[in-house]
Amino acid sequence: MATPSYDFIIVGAGVVGPALATNLASKGKTVLMLERDLSEPDRIVGELLQPGGIQLLEKLGLGAALDGIDAAPITGYEVIYEKNSVNIPYPPPPHQTKPAVGKGFHHGRFVMNLRRLSSETEGVTLKQATVTEIIEKDGRIVGVKTKENPEPYYATITCVCDGTNSNFRKQFVQTRPVVKSHFVGTILQNPDLQAPGHGHCIIGSDFSPMLIYSISPTEARILCNVPMATLPSKGNGDLKKWLETNSLPHLPVPLQKSFAKALEDESQLRSMPNQYLPAIQYDVQGLIILGDAMNMRHPLTGGGMTVGFNDAYLLSEALGRLSSDELASHSHLQIILKEFRRHRKGSSVVINVLSIALYHLFAADSPELKILQVGCFEYFKCGGEHIRGPASIISALTPSVSLLFYHFFAVAFFAIRLNFVSKIKESGLLGFFIAFYQMFTTLWTAAGVFLPFLFKELLY
Ligand SMILES: Cc1cc2nc3c(=O)[nH]c(=O)nc-3n(C[C@H](O)[C@H](O)[C@H](O)COP(=O)(O)OP(=O)(O)OC[C@H]3O[C@@H](n4cnc5c(N)ncnc54)[C@H](O)[C@@H]3O)c2cc1C
Repeated sequence: MATPSYDFIIVGAGVVGPALATNLASKGKTVLMLERDLSEPDRIVGELLQPGGIQLLEKLGLGAALDGIDAAPITGYEVIYEKNSVNIPYPPPPHQTKPAVGKGFHHGRFVMNLRRLSSETEGVTLKQATVTEIIEKDGRIVGVKTKENPEPYYATITCVCDGTNSNFRKQFVQTRPVVKSHFVGTILQNPDLQAPGHGHCIIGSDFSPMLIYSISPTEARILCNVPMATLPSKGNGDLKKWLETNSLPHLPVPLQKSFAKALEDESQLRSMPNQYLPAIQYDVQGLIILGDAMNMRHPLTGGGMTVGFNDAYLLSEALGRLSSDELASHSHLQIILKEFRRHRKGSSVVINVLSIALYHLFAADSPELKILQVGCFEYFKCGGEHIRGPASIISALTPSVSLLFYHFFAVAFFAIRLNFVSKIKESGLLGFFIAFYQMFTTLWTAAGVFLPFLFKELLY
């Protein structure tokens, strides 16, 4: 086997690559990070970092990545349902009294800071290079080939962090992501937000959800969910028409003007598929797959970067403790990966399952999901623990499987009770029988959008 020149090669310097590289290098490991394009990315992903994600960023030694990028503080959510609204502030982090704060920013500026800080860390070498092949020798991954350099790079461990459309995931696992819908986004200039400093989630029974959050003091990102596996064409104007018909009229009036203005420049419209990929299983000597390449959730709850940072932190802490000989031993790596899978269950899994369950409710497309949607909104309106619990999960401050389970099914039972009240009011005894029947179908639906995803994630 060729002598490894590095302890680790990391493929991809997006969000997760630099986090992993920095923490590994801080533990004395040598890391080569290869990124195909080191210029500033212009994407509609990864623009809201939850308070729990900020804590992780600091633990990874990258807190300064939020400096100098005109980031906007986010202190919670404003959920708007058919013109009514409820405010969901982030709770204070554990053992603190001041409410937690997240940050909204331009993705590209944040990634450039992550790359810079990481490459300034002793032990990290960052190069622009497109990885074309992962080299396998005698059943073990030993390094990579790139388009730019005829000489391969060798390392003890190769980490694949090449994002959503990972080429290398496909090489090692059969599981394919499922496209749930698309987000189409543009930027609103100086929008008149109902609750400045909050992420706005606009939902209703007859339209697809929209998200709005500040990404600088003067700009806000709007993401409109388009519930189709294939988008209407942008080139012939169909996408713009779809947004004008299906999204714009459902925005609060003060925002309609800024959205209509933003739509005038169709070239600014960007889209991304919203994919779900339960954490993948693989057993390949010398290989680690992390970030979106390993696991994806719905972006509705803005949890992807937090999951990525959490996973990078857990894994680099454990790998950082291994000697060079231990790193080269497959059995040691397997023990570390097993530990990693167990530890991420309390956090990353919760964020993933919440995103999928909430997406089904907020994009309700069946009578039962609509019952759950209105129930969820009314549940939040009860205030107190009804918003503190869910907010502590979405902010990633104290995620826990039991808390998620409790609040999800509390919403389901609350929704069923509300449905009884409204059906009886509408149609008397007949309404009671309809609500009685819907009690079972709603519970079945609630279980169906929660339990299979929970089990899939927990089984990892
Ligand atoms: C529409 C949308 C909105 C989102 N919004 C949020 C949000 O607000 N908050 C949040 O926390 N999360 C959000 N996410 C999720 C978040 O963006 C991802 O979880 C996160 O970016 C994953 O980081 P990553 O490093 O795995 O992948 P990426 O950030 O995509 O990085 C992958 C890197 O690998 C590089 N690369 C790929 N192939 C190669 C190769 N062959 N050789 C070298 N380099 C290569 C790419 O150029 C890229 O730089 C959103 C996702 C979507 C789809």
